[in-house]
Amino acid sequence: MKRKITIMMLAAAMLCLLPYSQLEVHAEDFAGNESYYDSICRQSNKDAKTSAMCDRYQVYLSKKKEALRGQVAGIRSSVAQLQGNIDALQTEINKNQNLIDQLEAQIAENEAAILQIQGVIEQLQIDIKQTEADIELRDRQIKDRMVSEQASIGTNAYVEFVMGAKDLIDMVRIVDGISRITENDQDEIEALEADKAKLDQQKKEQERLKSDQEKAKKDNEESKAVAEQAKASQEELKNEYLRQEADLIQQMRSAQSAQQAVQSQIASIQNADLNFTASNGFIVPVQSGYRSAGTWAYPGGGFHAGRDFAASIGTPIYAPIGGVIVYANNPVPTTNGFLGNWVGYPAGGGNTVHMIGTVNGTTYAISFFHMAQESFLVSPGMAVSQGQQIGAVGHTGNSTGPHCHVEVFNLGNMSVQTAVAQFSASGADFAWGCGWNTSSTSCASRGAPCRERPENFFG
Ligand SMILES: [Zn+2]
Repeated sequence: MKRKITIMMLAAAMLCLLPYSQLEVHAEDFAGNESYYDSICRQSNKDAKTSAMCDRYQVYLSKKKEALRGQVAGIRSSVAQLQGNIDALQTEINKNQNLIDQLEAQIAENEAAILQIQGVIEQLQIDIKQTEADIELRDRQIKDRMVSEQASIGTNAYVEFVMGAKDLIDMVRIVDGISRITENDQDEIEALEADKAKLDQQKKEQERLKSDQEKAKKDNEESKAVAEQAKASQEELKNEYLRQEADLIQQMRSAQSAQQAVQSQIASIQNADLNFTASNGFIVPVQSGYRSAGTWAYPGGGFHAGRDFAASIGTPIYAPIGGVIVYANNPVPTTNGFLGNWVGYPAGGGNTVHMIGTVNGTTYAISFFHMAQESFLVSPGMAVSQGQQIGAVGHTGNSTGPHCHVEVFNLGNMSVQTAVAQFSASGADFAWGCGWNTSSTSCASRGAPCRERPENFFG
């Protein structure tokens, strides 16, 4: 393997020394030598053989582009599958949340019932105490009366007999035969005892109801704990899927970036028009509607790399500065946007434009995402002046509603010509090496190239 590589390297070295006319022999060496072939094919005065070779080079580039497109489509379908899993999990999570809500309502009902029953029991206890006091009172009254009656009869043995009874019932039983207690006394005492027994029975029943409610509450609390546990593991799995999805999207971005590298190699054969008027400041690119999200975070959380201008579809988008368009592609229908729709370049951008220009000697690159397919007024390589309409607001790619997402990059004192060349060489890296997931590359944190807050330039 190593030997083969050495031979290939030698062949490549020799290739550089050969005149163009010999190149067709090595036409299969395009891979890995693109910049070399680009430089040859970019020249305007080519002989017939070189032209034929450049035609084959174009075919090679197209095939490479197709392969990358396939790769991107593959990743896209994996992402769609993951999103299906995430949606299914979300449904389960919602179900569990509903169950938890229901159980919480039931627990609250149990608690209210327990409280209410407790009140009834307390009232019953008061009634029982009152009845006991009534019984005691009657007991004493009857005893006293009997004692005083006995005093008039004058038999001490009977007094001891009555006073020795352990309670009123006992006494009633003992004195019954002696007929010293009236029918009325007996009825009254029996009625009081019956009242007390009834109250005791009611209290027992209420205590049973209370214990039933307490058991139901405990069961509901256990079910709730189970549902919460299930929901927590589903959330965990969902987060894992979201991480996988983020990884795949990252992969897709690089694949698309590679795909775009090929397109830009083709585009870079054209010479960009750098005859634009430099600007003294920025103007607002979308002049109606409202700002729906700012950098670096969405209102609901999550990293947000730019400024969102929410406006109705078709609202004009103007070049905020004079400059040159380095990317302009509108493959997507105007209203195809939805959350997680990764069409367009960069992934999810839908219809996009990227431009480079200067303001007071500093070079800036500016991105416009989610644009309409119609009124798409620019093409790669075209010079634009400040305030010139470049396109219109759409709802394309990873978008929840009509808006234009704008990002601004500070490229420092890099010349526009160098910036255009670097954009092309990077394979159209819209992020200028600043990445997509962090504010650590903001101009507040580091020097150019860095991400600017568009708010600082156009509110
Ligand atoms: Zn945005």
